[in-house]
Amino acid sequence: MSTKRVQNGYDAVILGGGPAGSTAAAVLAEKGRRVVVVEREKLPRYKVGESLIPYCYFPLKRIGMIEKLRESSFIKKYSVQFAAPDGRISTPFYFFQHLEHDAAQTWQVVRSEFDAMLLDNAVEKGAEVMSETNAKRLLMDGGRCLGLEVEQHGETFHLEAPVTIDCGGRHGFAATQLGWIVPDPQLNKIAVWTYFKGGMRDAGYDEGATTVAYLPEKGWLWYIPLPDDVIGVGVVASRKYLYRDGKNLEVVLNREINENRWIAEHLAPAERIESIQVTAEYSYRSRYCAGDGLVLAGDAFSFLDPVFSSGVFLALKSGEMAGDAVDAALQAGDASAGRFAAYGEKLCFGIESMRKLVYAFYDTSFSFGRVLRKYPDLRGDLTDCLIGNLFRDFGPLFAAIAEFAEVPQPLSYGKAPLQPVPLEAQAALEGISS
Ligand SMILES: Cc1cc2nc3c(=O)[nH]c(=O)nc-3n(C[C@H](O)[C@H](O)[C@H](O)COP(=O)(O)OP(=O)(O)OC[C@H]3O[C@@H](n4cnc5c(N)ncnc54)[C@H](O)[C@@H]3O)c2cc1C
Repeated sequence: MSTKRVQNGYDAVILGGGPAGSTAAAVLAEKGRRVVVVEREKLPRYKVGESLIPYCYFPLKRIGMIEKLRESSFIKKYSVQFAAPDGRISTPFYFFQHLEHDAAQTWQVVRSEFDAMLLDNAVEKGAEVMSETNAKRLLMDGGRCLGLEVEQHGETFHLEAPVTIDCGGRHGFAATQLGWIVPDPQLNKIAVWTYFKGGMRDAGYDEGATTVAYLPEKGWLWYIPLPDDVIGVGVVASRKYLYRDGKNLEVVLNREINENRWIAEHLAPAERIESIQVTAEYSYRSRYCAGDGLVLAGDAFSFLDPVFSSGVFLALKSGEMAGDAVDAALQAGDASAGRFAAYGEKLCFGIESMRKLVYAFYDTSFSFGRVLRKYPDLRGDLTDCLIGNLFRDFGPLFAAIAEFAEVPQPLSYGKAPLQPVPLEAQAALEGISS
């Protein structure tokens, strides 16, 4: 029998104080729900993923963040542009040419500050935060999640609630414990990145543009202007391509920077100010988005290659949707997995649009230019997808793209289980029952 301290009385326990967790917490707290966010770090803490897309506006507006962002020193972003290896730059995709709304201007953020602002915002709305608190495992009773076992300043105790929301990011806390991680082998890239000071910025509206710069072999570099004259620069490509001459990260990054003339020219006057980081770009989706008493949101549910900067949007949006779905489940007094079916359906539908675009991007025979030259009327649909308006039908766009690139079928998994969880996952559940 367990003698551990149990803290309960919460409506929801939220694992992770990143964009997904803070948004879910703000939505629930605003509805008067008692929520606690468990965060391993003390915010502000470093995080990669600085470039927002326009549709971030809507969940951010919902939780009262837009005025705070307007008062911040984050760089205003109006467009995304694409640079060919020889340095030719595309016509920028200006969001305002497509979207007559305040959302057309978004931001390049410093994630340490942005994430801290989001978490503070959740606290203002009434959420409780336990920082420097490490979630160690889900508490399971048969197939039902009861909460989290956490460790804080050397003490281990249990946090219990009718619903636990895993917003713990790319390590897939719940999905790993439950054996639900399904990798996307075709998107198995690696990223190498750092920060420079003094890189060139384009003028006017283009000053805050994200530049996606192509490498000869379907890899790409990002160039993201940040406050204080800082530029975030990184490269994403296959492991084989990037490590073809060894694994020295400085050699790898410098070589790839010089493979794209636009990036090389823009960084010529710049000096590197941070160490070089690397991560396996391990795209995946969890087999389920929910279980009994459990919901997954943000990267904890699915991670998609960051070429179109969709990660923070999907974290904010799924955090918002999870908050609403959990509130409805609490209202009904039933937090079983089936309650989250609509949540999973909608989230997977939106992710699929972005996933198709990402697959097309990596197809060697694909270019946006070729598609738009043949189908100029689809420019609006393509821009819609790039800005994050993902929850609509893109049939004609992907039918056109399929003429130039392989477009994947939607993944069959990621929804809420409508019946008891299948055997192998059930075995995993029982294996870790408390
Ligand atoms: C190389 C790279 C570049 C990217 N570029 C972009 C970009 O330009 N634009 C974009 O939108 N997205 C980008 N992304 C994706 C983006 O970073 C993520 O999608 C986003 O941070 C997801 O938010 P989240 O809230 O789901 O998770 P996170 O931001 O990862 O937050 C999870 C939180 O949970 C906490 N946590 C984890 N485990 C535990 C535990 N056991 N106990 C307690 N706390 C825990 C962590 O400390 C963290 O604070 C990029 C990702 C990578 C890898």
